[in-house]
Amino acid sequence: MTMRRPLIAGNWKMHKTAEETERFIKELLPKLENVEDIDVLIIPPYTSLDRAGRLLQGKSLQLGAQDVHYETEGAFTGAISTHMLKACGCSYVLVGHSERRELFGDDDTIVARKLNVALDSDLKAILCVGETLSEHDLVEEKITRQLTQDLTGIDAMTLTKITIAYEPIWAIGTGKTATPEVAQETISMIRRWIASHYDEAAAQGMRILYGGSVKPANAKSLLAQPDIDGALVGGAALVAESFAQIVDAARLQ
Ligand code: PEP
Repeated sequence: MTMRRPLIAGNWKMHKTAEETERFIKELLPKLENVEDIDVLIIPPYTSLDRAGRLLQGKSLQLGAQDVHYETEGAFTGAISTHMLKACGCSYVLVGHSERRELFGDDDTIVARKLNVALDSDLKAILCVGETLSEHDLVEEKITRQLTQDLTGIDAMTLTKITIAYEPIWAIGTGKTATPEVAQETISMIRRWIASHYDEAAAQGMRILYGGSVKPANAKSLLAQPDIDGALVGGAALVAESFAQIVDAARLQ
């Protein structure tokens, strides 16, 4: 059986200046000193990436970006390329976060292009999928449609550079968390989909996170589920102490 390395990722969304980012990193790093066997990632806004990258040189705490453009260069006012992210020290990028999909018009075609450009540039990608409350009864259809379209053209080798995050949209920033059982059920469905569209080895190796109001108080029971390999954390990732507590919950599994 493949041992999947857990990942705890903090998506800061539109929070923190470069100065505040520096303060956060300086507070968090000592709390991670004894963390081994877990990947820990912060995902600040673009304007903090350069400062964060300098502070994290040689450290195991990793850096990611919240989005990327699907072209590598050119006349795309306001957009950021994979090359720029890598130059800041990013090793990860989020693709298809529900806020990008719902508020900024990233449809599955755009998500697939972003995923491809990220992987071509040797960034690891976290592909977010999930259903709204009204789609909850049709969760399997929604997620398999997203996976089918978003992973177009991705072969089994490239798939190893992707982490999937299952984020029910009704649980993001709402304080409502999927129960560990519901999260486990959907995530194991995603793993079965990978097995049937790639193979069993790809499915067993695929790291799949849960996201949606993860907090220190509920992290342990979610991370204890056999198919949940970590968490994508929003609100609770903005405070170094609560983020470190979620990392601790992953260590205790
Ligand atoms: C997220 O931003 O991906 C997220 C899950 O946010 P929150 O933890 O605040 O629900």
